[in-house]
This record gives sequence, structure tokens and C-alpha cells, in this order.
Amino acid sequence: MPTDDLSRAAESHRWPEHIWRGHVEAVRTGRRLVPESWPGGARVAVALSFDSDHETIPLRDGETSPGRLAQGEYGARAGAPRIVDLLARYGVPATFFMPAVSALLHPEEARGYVRGGHELAVHGWIHERNTLLGRDEEKELTSRALDTLTTLTGQRPVGIRTPSWDFSDSTLDIMLELGFAYDSSLMGDDEPYEIVAGGRNTGLVEIPVDWIRDDAPYFTMDRYGSVRPHSRPRDVREIWVDEFDAAYRDGGVFQLTLHPHVIGHRSRLVALRELLDHIAAHRDVWFATHAQLAEASRGLLHGRTSARSVADPQEHAP
Ligand SMILES: [Zn+2]
Repeated sequence: MPTDDLSRAAESHRWPEHIWRGHVEAVRTGRRLVPESWPGGARVAVALSFDSDHETIPLRDGETSPGRLAQGEYGARAGAPRIVDLLARYGVPATFFMPAVSALLHPEEARGYVRGGHELAVHGWIHERNTLLGRDEEKELTSRALDTLTTLTGQRPVGIRTPSWDFSDSTLDIMLELGFAYDSSLMGDDEPYEIVAGGRNTGLVEIPVDWIRDDAPYFTMDRYGSVRPHSRPRDVREIWVDEFDAAYRDGGVFQLTLHPHVIGHRSRLVALRELLDHIAAHRDVWFATHAQLAEASRGLLHGRTSARSVADPQEHAP
């Protein structure tokens, strides 16, 4: 059921406690999974991700005009190669979340990510909206996406990000049934945490995201809508620098979600390059794929590493 269902919202004031509490506790933040130090003694973990959606955004919406599809094609043709070059120049790995249809349209790109030492992870079949699907259909599409990426690259992805971070009532169970090691679609914290379902520890690591650390809301526009974000790329870089600096002080994680068809434009890639310059000027930075980060965080679940004590936020006030 869509979470913005108005009839549901209209009745919520009549819900007894077990109903509203039940909704809240269905998928919840558990233990914060930040070790005393990151691998190699690093102070901060930097996890860059790129959602290589390309043509699947218009396809998902049934928009099949060549004009809309070309906007997605730009991501594969111009954006992704520039991003891969930039990452190689800094010698840093990233995670590429790719819808299966996008990977089938651009199989060499998908294989190239893996060959280049990056991680390829699941991002739905055709960027479908999970909350509009039934459980069986959602599971079948997620499973088919996982199998498709496995066949294309010879490596089975261990991570998943739901398309548009759209998380249905069935999504968590499906992730657990398909054996994913981590998810990166929820926004419950700045740091990785274990997902708790109805008070039960699931063992699934969440690497949280947020719109603040996503390029799309700053730059994308709908031709016939009234919103024209067109933020200055260097203003956006400033926000991301502030996010990184605080993560560095906290000894936590700086995670970023970008899109080749958005950040891959010439004037916008400047923001990413200058951000990488800023990060690279710091000591003790661990650049990790989301899978590597999830693995390091998972050590806390099994008692292999000890947790970092959470600092008092006041202590870090600038
Ligand atoms: Zn996406």
C-alpha cells in the first residue's frame, strides 16, 4: 500500500496505540555499528555511491519518448565514463547500484565497474516503485534483478538499494529471504546500524542515505513542473564538505548518493572533484565500497570489534 495513501492518513487519529506503535516498530534502527576505528586505523569511512539508473527512470514511468530516454542515455554515454575516470584518478572505490534493465542495456558498463575494482549492487529491475507492487511481484523482480547482475558479471551482489529508496511493508522480508548482507535505502541515522523488525534483531546492516547527500534534489527539474532547483554546484559541494567534516569529527561515516545522468555533467562534476580534493587532504580516511563498510560494521554484530562510544554532540560544536 502506498505510504501516502490519504484514506489511511485520514483515519490515523483513531488508531489505538498498538496500531501506531506497530507501524513504527515494523522496521526500526537497532544498534549503531561504528567500530572504535575503521580498517587501517582510519578515523572516518567514506562510502561513495552512484545509482546508474540511466533510461530506467522514464521507462519506469512509462515515458517512452526518445527525448526523455536520451536524458537517461546521457548518464551511460557521458556521465559514467567521466565518473569512472575521476575515481581512478583519486584511486578510490565506489558502489554502483544499477537497475537490471539498465545493466542489460549497458552490459559493458556493468562489467567495467566490477573490473575497475568497484562494487555492483542491486537497484531493482526497472526502477519500480515497491510500494505500488504486491509482495510476490516485488520479490520476483528483486530476485530477477539479482540473478541478472550475477549472470552479467559472474559475481553475486551482496547489497541492495531500493529504487527511489521506496521501501514497502514486504521489502525487509524480501531482502532477508534473498540473503542480502546490507541495505542502503533508509534514513534512520547518520551511521550504519542493524535493522530491527518488530523488536527482533535481523542481522541486516543498514548503510543509511539521505536526500541531503544526494545530487538529484539539488539539480533535477521536471520540464512542465514549476520547480527549478538548478543549485550552484559549488554551493552543493559546501553542504557535502560540512557533512564530511562532521563525520570526520565524529569518527563515523560520510556516505554520498549520486547519479551519472545528474552529477556527470561538466559543470557539476566540478563539485565532486573539489569534494574529493577536500577529503583527500585529510589523514586517516578509509574509502570503502558499501559492501566493505557493511563488512566492517558487521564485526560489531559478532563481537569481533568493539564499538566507538558516541560522543556528546556539544563537544564538537564549532
Ligand atoms: Zn535510482
